Amino acid sequence: MIKALGYAANHSFSRLRPVAFEREEAGAYEIEIDVLFCGVCHSDIHQVKNEWSNTVYPCMPGHEIVGRVTKAGARVTRHQVGDMVGVGCMIESCRRCDPCEAGDQNYCEGPNSWLATYNGPMIPAKKAPDGKNHYGRDNTYGGYSNVVVVNEDFALRIPAALKPDVAAPILCAGVTTYSPMKRWGVKAGDKVGIIGFGGLGDMAAQIAHAMGADVTVFTSHKEKLAEAAALGAKGVLESDGDALKALKGSFDFMLSTIPQKHDINPFLPLLKRDRTICIVGALEPMAPVNNMHLAARRNTVAGSLIGNLADTQEVLEFCAEHGIGPQIQVIPIQQVNDAYKQIENGEVRFRYVIDMGSLKQEMDAA
Ligand code: NDP
Repeated sequence: MIKALGYAANHSFSRLRPVAFEREEAGAYEIEIDVLFCGVCHSDIHQVKNEWSNTVYPCMPGHEIVGRVTKAGARVTRHQVGDMVGVGCMIESCRRCDPCEAGDQNYCEGPNSWLATYNGPMIPAKKAPDGKNHYGRDNTYGGYSNVVVVNEDFALRIPAALKPDVAAPILCAGVTTYSPMKRWGVKAGDKVGIIGFGGLGDMAAQIAHAMGADVTVFTSHKEKLAEAAALGAKGVLESDGDALKALKGSFDFMLSTIPQKHDINPFLPLLKRDRTICIVGALEPMAPVNNMHLAARRNTVAGSLIGNLADTQEVLEFCAEHGIGPQIQVIPIQQVNDAYKQIENGEVRFRYVIDMGSLKQEMDAA
């Protein structure tokens, strides 16, 4: 076993604290990764606070992981010791169901669905049709730790052009916004609206802009209007009814990244006919939709969950090729509890990334 250290919460109301634990050594098809950086996603906060009612404690978050391969199992062919690699939200899937065979591991229909990088299988044993956990582990510890061990197929190559700290948020925020834009065919000249300008919104605006779209960011913070302009996007205050009215029937695609239940009705009239608004932020019941808005233009309200492995590799390459990446603030892990508060207060610009060297210093000092 490998002796490891990470930061975890023991209850929905507790702070993250250092926790010593053990990971299994890398098997034949697995790699051991020395974690260098890990992004802080708003999902980490939802999970720690048990806002999806499925948290397994202790909860050690982290699914935007970048690090260097330190060991490779005997059968590993995709990565080598010394490679810079990334791990996103998934570390395994059933590999046999229709979505897995189609490459959509993130929609795995196996008895436990996919195995999340932290918190365990998406469908735990008690909710699985056969009452079993086919992955063995009930609680997977994530990237707020010094080391992770994963199957080589679930590790992504980090392009040399991307700095490792900048690459980290692309593994979740990047692919979660890239995947729906690809799915709904965003292309040069399209008008794209991004609602909520935080970690996901920042990535979405940059990716849509790099795709050649005309991007408008809808925000609740006045000071973010200038920050949108700095990315080459227009900024509109969500509360500005006149501005929304002026944009009626003008968007080809809209993406909502707001992290909780919200009302999308004010945005529906902004879509052109036969277009889609996709909600990726709120993973919970939403405010009722006025179907008259949808019917009047034959529009669709959609959802999307992270992205598959191929799209994750693709968005990493896309960001490298276009010279884009998340706007990040690098923090030591000792500041993670404060960072959570700042994210909840909407104060982050735009993604905190933990420098895991700070954890190793803590280990050395212990
Ligand atoms: P952030 O907190 O970084 O950004 C969310 C942004 O939404 C804020 O910056 C703010 O933007 C806006 N916002 C926040 N609260 C409200 C509110 N009450 N009403 C209106 N706007 C609000 O979060 P992330 O970008 O990291 O994550 C966003 C959501 O996406 C989370 O809920 C996360 O769980 C989810 N998620 C979903 C995934 C999926 O697969 N579908 C994958 C990853 C994350 P502004 O200041 O511009 O108003």
